[in-house]
Amino acid sequence: MTAHYQLQGNIAVITLDNPPVNGLNLATRKGAVEAIERALTDQQVQAIVLTGGGNAFSGGADIKEFNTPNMLAEPNLHALITTIENSTKPVVAAIHHVCMGGGLELALGCHYRVVTPGTQIALPEVKLGLLPGAGGTQRLPRIAGLELALKMITTGAAELSENLAQTGLFNELILGDCLTGAVAFAEKIASLRPLPQVRQLNVVHPQAEQLLEQARKQVARGFLNAPRACVEAVAAAVALPFDDGIAQERQLFKTLLLGNESKALRHAFFAERAASKIPDVPSDTPQRVINTAAVIGAGTMGGGIAMNFANAGIPVQILETKPEALERGLAIIAKNYQNTRDKGKLSAEKCAQRIALITGTLDYSAIAQADIVVEAVFEEMQVKRAVFEQLDAVMKPGAILASNTSTLDLNQIASFTKRAQDVVGTHFFSPANVMKLLEIVRGQQTSKEVLATVMALSKKLKKVGVVSGVCDGFIGNRMLEKYIQQAGFLLDEGCLPAQVDNAMEKLGFAMGPFRMGDLAGNDISYAIRKRRRIEKPDMLYSQTADKLCELGRFGQKTAAGWYDYQAGDRTAHPSELVNQMIAGHSKELGLERRHITDQEITERLIYSLVNEAAYILEEGIAQRASDIDMVYLSGYGFPLHLGGPMLYADTVGLNHVVTAIGQYAQGTYGSAWKVAPLLQQLAAQGGQFNR
Ligand code: NAD
Repeated sequence: MTAHYQLQGNIAVITLDNPPVNGLNLATRKGAVEAIERALTDQQVQAIVLTGGGNAFSGGADIKEFNTPNMLAEPNLHALITTIENSTKPVVAAIHHVCMGGGLELALGCHYRVVTPGTQIALPEVKLGLLPGAGGTQRLPRIAGLELALKMITTGAAELSENLAQTGLFNELILGDCLTGAVAFAEKIASLRPLPQVRQLNVVHPQAEQLLEQARKQVARGFLNAPRACVEAVAAAVALPFDDGIAQERQLFKTLLLGNESKALRHAFFAERAASKIPDVPSDTPQRVINTAAVIGAGTMGGGIAMNFANAGIPVQILETKPEALERGLAIIAKNYQNTRDKGKLSAEKCAQRIALITGTLDYSAIAQADIVVEAVFEEMQVKRAVFEQLDAVMKPGAILASNTSTLDLNQIASFTKRAQDVVGTHFFSPANVMKLLEIVRGQQTSKEVLATVMALSKKLKKVGVVSGVCDGFIGNRMLEKYIQQAGFLLDEGCLPAQVDNAMEKLGFAMGPFRMGDLAGNDISYAIRKRRRIEKPDMLYSQTADKLCELGRFGQKTAAGWYDYQAGDRTAHPSELVNQMIAGHSKELGLERRHITDQEITERLIYSLVNEAAYILEEGIAQRASDIDMVYLSGYGFPLHLGGPMLYADTVGLNHVVTAIGQYAQGTYGSAWKVAPLLQQLAAQGGQFNR
């Protein structure tokens, strides 16, 4: 049973029952239609109350039904809503806790709506690259006003029911039990005729056209089509009779549903959920309790990591070797919080609470009882060794020992302790208090319990946790190295930084490779290259990056990098000096600089990511292709509408990717390309990374 039928006097109560949020799958829709029909034939029934069991009215479409034929099978949501709207007995939606997407569209088809305070009201379809396709774009502006409807439909943001009390959306705010209030309301209106239908209303607003124009301008800026389609659907509600508006909505919905953008956004939605699953670590694996934390090192990363714990309400101690370093680190943290408070993003009270949760120490014995300790000291094996030997000596049994290393061998770090099962990598991204990605590095001996605990912790810290095996650079930075390598070659062959960056940014990347280098600091990769040169003397890369650093141009921090910067301004201005250095370098190499198309730039950069990712997948460093997409979407500014490098490769076709790589392998730096066997094999079979 997915919709229960019950009589309360003369009122039929239909309760949707599809946990956890009464998703409107085929069985639930069928159950609801049948229950309505039963109420219509039941002589005793004067009015109908439609509600949801558990803690939701309805969360809308059932995500398990996505991408299956059942999603649109009859009775589809439209048919269910029409049945309700045409009912000859009044239908009252009794709304509580959650009313989203198709759930709200269903409620809008009812004759009346009553709601309890604190209910989340939203049409979040745009977040999946869609629009509300069951009348939401036509009914919401009619009943709640154009301005609110535009905001809710184009952003997908949730509103609290009590804040919508003045809009006409709800007939009554019920302060007590939802169902009792709804039944009382139904008794009150049972005999009133005609039955009100939202579809009969007109969208009336004196400045409708201006509002629509404003909304069009707002959505024009982004890369996504769905918000633009949302505005056009709402515009149809203003301009057209209801049925024509519905036809327009359906047309726009279908176009979005079949397009690559929605495919990418839905992929990202499922990829995020999949990433938290570790195949050999079942969901009932015991977890350790994390009530307190410690961080070693109060530098750039240590400070940000400590803020993550404090933001989640977990008290955290930071350990440093020198009082000056500790004081400096704590002062930066306090300043960061105060800036957030000054911008109005954090209340004074919360700001003070969070700062109070972070304390400093110079003494290892003070942190011995912490449930987890995250090391974020200098990236040198000997420094890490000293820290982990200390931690092994002092930390209580069962404490999780985590390292934030970006490149070092986690298994070696674990070997500095006698408890390798408790050692794990937690690779945060800079700025650690902002970036969503957390690579969870699984050492050879990391226990399942520790992995399950850190995965759960990543959610508490509001991060996207993705498991990576041990290798140099893990998933994200290992791929990035190939990308940066190609970007450098492009400079030697004929590009300038701005051309490369603009090509990537036009595609939707948050930042091209050179602007990114200037932001992160070119000195960091310079130091890594110096180390690598010893390990891999035949390493191939453009020397322009070293030349840049030899000029002291480390990026924004020195107001000069690949670009020039003015004090206090992050705007990148092309640098004549750097551009001459690049051209001079090509000459030294005896390379004739040539015109390079944007297509070549974007293909070489993205396919270098894809090819390395195929190796990573093959080696089992990443658990699944969609994890790699999640790493790039949440940590590297990869365009969301392209769904991550692996989905992008699937979309353009792996055969095309292999052919293009084959062409680039004929070029100046062709020897850097070696097609990954997995990529080759999938392409030959007409396969895909994400199945
Ligand atoms: P940082 O130089 O800003 O900070 C390191 C801090 O560690 C300094 O405050 C230093 O005083 C302290 N320290 C050094 N030795 C110590 C010891 N023995 N005990 C206690 N404190 C000690 O460096 P960072 O950028 O914060 O990097 C820290 C770690 O995070 C490195 O492993 C780095 O590879 C990794 N990481 C950095 C970034 C980044 O973008 N900066 C991103 C991801 C990971």
